[in-house]
Amino acid sequence: MNSLIATTDCTHSWSEPGPQRVAFTIDAWQGLTDGLIQCATCGQYAVVNLLDWGGRNLCFRIFSVALAGSSTASVFLRNMNSDYCDLSRHQAEANALLAATERPCRLILAGVPGLNVITSRPLVERKPEPTFWRESIPNGETWFPLFDFDCAPS
Ligand SMILES: [Zn+2]
Repeated sequence: MNSLIATTDCTHSWSEPGPQRVAFTIDAWQGLTDGLIQCATCGQYAVVNLLDWGGRNLCFRIFSVALAGSSTASVFLRNMNSDYCDLSRHQAEANALLAATERPCRLILAGVPGLNVITSRPLVERKPEPTFWRESIPNGETWFPLFDFDCAPS
């Protein structure tokens, strides 16, 4: 257990339908793929990583949600928002953030652009290792059935 993560009764804003606060976009492809989000209620940070996508323009996306400690997130944001010219640093900072997060605990089904949660559920079936989508290209066959969600345009 990471002692930097405050114990809270908050269910976190990403558990409920609605737009989410994206504190930092780590990577994107026609919308968010990896990022740092923040609970609108309690301020808890979490890292979201794309697991699967579908629909028109890949607008429906399933993300894993892994809690990130506030000090970890603060250091990441400060470093990413400071001026630098070393292009490898972006990836190094992102990897450091990922390494410091908890294992994913929740799945969200969200629409992009932005991050608009449609529904969410606890992640109990199998826990993916946190990873960036470019290192784990979605195969589009395993995560959507958990939500009983049809991506096809109506
Ligand atoms: Zn919260």
